[in-house]
Order: sequence, then structure tokens, then C-alpha cells
Amino acid sequence: MEWIDIGANLTHQTFRKDFSAVLERATRAGVRQLIVTGTDERESVRAQALAAEHPGQLYATAGFHPHMAKHFSSESESVLRELAARPEVVAIGETGLDFYRNHSPPEVQQRVFERHLELAVELQLPVFLHQRDAHTRFVEIVRAYRDDLVDGVAHCFTEGPEVARDYLDLGLHIGVTGWICDERRGQAVRRAVAQIPSSALMVETDCPYLLPRDVEPQQVGLPVKNRRNEPCLLPHIGRAVAHYSGRDVGELAASSAQVARRFFRIDEPPSPPA
Ligand SMILES: [Zn+2]
Repeated sequence: MEWIDIGANLTHQTFRKDFSAVLERATRAGVRQLIVTGTDERESVRAQALAAEHPGQLYATAGFHPHMAKHFSSESESVLRELAARPEVVAIGETGLDFYRNHSPPEVQQRVFERHLELAVELQLPVFLHQRDAHTRFVEIVRAYRDDLVDGVAHCFTEGPEVARDYLDLGLHIGVTGWICDERRGQAVRRAVAQIPSSALMVETDCPYLLPRDVEPQQVGLPVKNRRNEPCLLPHIGRAVAHYSGRDVGELAASSAQVARRFFRIDEPPSPPA
């Protein structure tokens, strides 16, 4: 079985010390390719650099998370544009709206989100999208650009079947994380996954965040210290997605990897040594 983690924050400082061990564990778990999330100018530059160092295995997105929108400038836009010209940068994002924490003012988030969508349209790249507590405005903005956008994925989907329907009606893909493993918060997304057609469904860890609640790091041989999520836990998440959507886990692995390769326009990696 092979998997593709479409949302890994591998530039996060918690991975700095044991990065190669993290990648090794991912490979051993069958996670063969990963998309490293760019969340602001510096992290996008780092994500691209990591991807360039691991051709065929790591890819990167370039963008500003809505929390970081207030730091976006015309210079940062030029940097994103340069990064996006690199072959290992496969999407614009992370971008979107987060009215839950409002680390950046909502008006700024909306303006920066629109700049990202314009860039994605101009460069004909797919977008990696984040939305929290901003569904209505998010849908309005995406709809305004949808006809010109090549593709989009609503990453870290945590909501129920109705919101999934809205995204699917917009022709978006949906990324599901270990949120689904949480028996308290995960009920809505558990109901939603069966409604998402395989052609629109991808899986991700969003590591180091969102350690699946039903995983004890020491039991799976992970460093306990900071209770960090890792790409090697993607198969665990995939099994939960398969379970709650009534799919066979092998078929889910194969279909989500195929969808991810088509979405991000990446090739299969060379076969691992026997
Ligand atoms: Zn996000």
C-alpha cells in the first residue's frame, strides 16, 4: 500500500532535529510522496528548498496561511511568484480564511486570499485552501474565481456532509486529516466522508499538528516528547477514513494517491529498492 500526504508542515521547527528519521519512518510506513505546506514567505522558501533536496519525494506549496495574511506584501507576492516557477512547487497556498482566531484582520485575510486566487489563475496552479468559521464568505470568494481556477482542495476538512456538499458543488477536492480519529470532535467529518466521491478525496496529516487522538506515540515507536504528529501516521488516518466511509483501505490508498498525483500534477516516484 502506498500513500501521499498532501499536507505536511515539515518546515516546522519541531522537525528540525530529526528530519531524516521522520522521512525514513514515513517511507517505511508506505508514505511515498509528501506535499510540504508553505504558510508564509519564509516557510514557503523553506518548503521549496526541502522539496528541491528530495526530488520526486517532496513537493511544496507557496502561500500565506490566513493567520499570516497581515504579513503579506507586494514583495512577498514576487517571492511566491518566483517559487511557483520552480517545478517542485505544485500549488498556491496555504490560503483562505480563518475567522476563528482572526490572527489577521478579516478584511486583510479576504484581500490576501483574493490575491492568492488571482495568482493561481494567472499561473494555472491548483490552490491549497484553509477555511475555519468562515464558510459563507469562503464559498462566495472561491465561487467568484472558480471558472478560472484549475483546481482547489479544501484541506483539513473538519465539517459535516452539508459543507462537503457545498465544496463538491464548487468542484473542490477535500483533504481529510486525523481529526476524524477524534471521537469527540470528529463526528461530523465521520458522517461526511461517505458522501465524498473517491475522485475528490485525499488524505493528509497536517503534521506536526493534529496528532490523531487515538494514537499513543510510544506505542507506534514515535518520540513522546512533544506529542507531535508525523507523516508515518497517515496510514492510520487512512484506515479511519476507509472505515467511516465504508471503503476498502487498499482501494482508498490507491485512489487518494492517484487523485493527489493528478491534482498536483506529480509523477510516480521510482520504485523503492527491493
Ligand atoms: Zn490549514
